[in-house]
Amino acid sequence: MPEADADVLVVGLGAWGAMTLWQLAKRGLRPIGIERYGRGHALGASHGGSRMFRITCLEHPGLVPFARRSAELWEALERETGTSLLRRHGGLLIGAPYSAVAGGTLTAAREHGIEVEKLTRAQLSKRFPQHTGLSPDDIGVWEPSAGLLRPEAAIRAALDAAETAGARVLTGTEVTAVEPDGDDVLVHTPATTLRARRVVMATGSWLPSMVPLPDLRVVRMPVTWFRPEGEQERFHLANFPVFMRQIGGSTILWGCGSEPPYDVKLGLEQFGAAAAPFDTGDSDRSVTSDDWTALCAVLAERLPGLRPEPARVAVGMLTLTPDNQFVLGALPESPNVIVAGGDNAHGFKHATGIGELLADLATGQEPRLDYSFMDVKRFR
Ligand SMILES: Cc1cc2nc3c(=O)[nH]c(=O)nc-3n(C[C@H](O)[C@H](O)[C@H](O)COP(=O)(O)OP(=O)(O)OC[C@H]3O[C@@H](n4cnc5c(N)ncnc54)[C@H](O)[C@@H]3O)c2cc1C
Repeated sequence: MPEADADVLVVGLGAWGAMTLWQLAKRGLRPIGIERYGRGHALGASHGGSRMFRITCLEHPGLVPFARRSAELWEALERETGTSLLRRHGGLLIGAPYSAVAGGTLTAAREHGIEVEKLTRAQLSKRFPQHTGLSPDDIGVWEPSAGLLRPEAAIRAALDAAETAGARVLTGTEVTAVEPDGDDVLVHTPATTLRARRVVMATGSWLPSMVPLPDLRVVRMPVTWFRPEGEQERFHLANFPVFMRQIGGSTILWGCGSEPPYDVKLGLEQFGAAAAPFDTGDSDRSVTSDDWTALCAVLAERLPGLRPEPARVAVGMLTLTPDNQFVLGALPESPNVIVAGGDNAHGFKHATGIGELLADLATGQEPRLDYSFMDVKRFR
């Protein structure tokens, strides 16, 4: 058997790939990670300063153990690198008691014994008066264990920790093809070809263009920051914590306050809407007023006290699957190629737990958590 350059090579060093590399390096392997752009760049899915963390995973009951394990690993990464990454100052879920957001959160809390506080509409208005225009049946669910993660800092911390433990990180290097070769996998870049025993393809929204996974759809997701007008402290993070608010059948308003200078982050998500497909070969991330018009239209009624025009806007990419679950695991036709994608806009909080799972799969260890509901095999 020809000598391999690495036992495991990770393609793509966004959130999932960076955490996988860290987990592999911690096990004493000398993995190689390859990233097309720079560390913590703004062209994929893992930028924008913050990501919501919560244990009450309304997307699937099987994700709750992943969120719990991820929290332990986020704390481990913080300790190992001396970096503050996860601030668990609580999070708010708003909607009707039977809605996906509030109802789903209550169900997850009940089934998994997660501490939450149910707020009546009146209690919600009193405690969080920034949220106006509530529907008559809206309630609030306060999850004290929720909070915010720092995505770019987390990726950099994981890569630093991986390198300290013996990993090699190649940035500015595009993988042009991944090709099984006997028991190995060849990874081609414009400059060279590397041989690995196993490859983890954590290429996010670029995954469907590299591996035939026709059920995955890539769409763009604008993220918008607003400045308060009048009293600024209302929108301090301590007073206006991270939230998800269902404002109609399938529309979700989400966001969080900020420390001075008060960049209040907001987004609007239309579940089930036929979002325009996004070409991942196109590096254009410019924005137009179409990216914030619908959001601005709801602000005066739902979150008054913010200037009506955004202070800044960024674009992220989402990869959607028909069942809203991630796509993880060894490809049935190439078992030494392990894929990781289909983030469906809820994957950052799980990045450390998923990194551990991918490291288990890449080293032939039994995963500690059941991931069958996310297994790529369901699409084959
Ligand atoms: C606007 C927005 C808000 C979100 N909010 C939340 C939230 O609040 N909470 C939450 O948990 N999740 C949230 N998510 C989802 C979460 O951010 C994603 O699940 C997560 O960032 C996905 O990470 P990833 O590593 O799979 O993808 P990415 O970060 O996109 O990483 C993929 C990497 O692969 C690299 N790559 C691709 N092709 C190649 C190649 N050929 N060669 C080399 N490298 C390559 C790319 O450059 C990129 O760095 C949100 C997502 C968006 C877009």
